[in-house]
Amino acid sequence: MFRKILAIAAPLTVAALIVSAQAPAGGGGKGKAAPPPTIVQIKPGLYEIEGLGGNTSVRVSNEGVFVADTKNMGEENYQQLLTLIKSVTPQPIKGAAVTHVHQDHSGNTASFIRDGVPVWAHEGEKALTATYVTNGNKVGAPDKTFAKDQTITMGNAKIELHNYGPTHTSGDTIVYFPDLRVVHGGDMIVNNAPNCDFANGGSVVNWAKAMDEVLKLDFDTLIPGHGAVMTKAQVAEYAAKWKTFAERALAEVRKGTAKEALVAAIKVDDLAPFATASYAQRLDGFWADLQKAK
Ligand SMILES: [Zn+2]
Repeated sequence: MFRKILAIAAPLTVAALIVSAQAPAGGGGKGKAAPPPTIVQIKPGLYEIEGLGGNTSVRVSNEGVFVADTKNMGEENYQQLLTLIKSVTPQPIKGAAVTHVHQDHSGNTASFIRDGVPVWAHEGEKALTATYVTNGNKVGAPDKTFAKDQTITMGNAKIELHNYGPTHTSGDTIVYFPDLRVVHGGDMIVNNAPNCDFANGGSVVNWAKAMDEVLKLDFDTLIPGHGAVMTKAQVAEYAAKWKTFAERALAEVRKGTAKEALVAAIKVDDLAPFATASYAQRLDGFWADLQKAK
């Protein structure tokens, strides 16, 4: 696979922020600075930007650029994102989508809209922007929404948006580039331990089912919300782990395992990188999700 890597030096203030975010006081970090954000060609006409929050996909058509996920909130992050995109194409940005409400994906929705770029999201994401607060800030609402499936045509590029019900939150979007056979997964598909935001409408039970829908798409490459790019075989493996995890959790509630004993009872050592720490912290939501389905 042809991969071209370009990196730009992060302005000092942003670099300092990244370092402090990754090396908490007394955390025993190795003092290694975060690498500067990079833009990498995944296929002709498609780039990925890692760093500054969740992974971003950049689809370059002959009539403009479409951006999937907008990085951590903040004007400096937004300007760095624009600079990286300009380093690979003179085309103007003409559309964007955010996969879900978390600010490391939706943080610069308002900046794109301010600059005249329409931003798409699932209607559930828009609803969550009314209540979602991060560090005292609210993320901007998208100006374009869809209910289930949406196709966008930009020059020679097609972009499909799909929602498969509640998964990581109650407003997740899968962005699909069918002509390139690439999926942008948001946090529904991550290349590390997934976590479910029950407070913002997520569902472990539906997530396992939704993965079957993702696998029906014709793709060979997936850009996850976090972590390294995945093959379809790796996504299938991830989907199988979701199914096993949800089945094991449901089996516990069906046989009457007490709420307090639930998380420890679910075997995950053969499902790495799946882990249960986040479920212990969100036990009420996890329990309620399983009770609805048992
Ligand atoms: Zn997220």
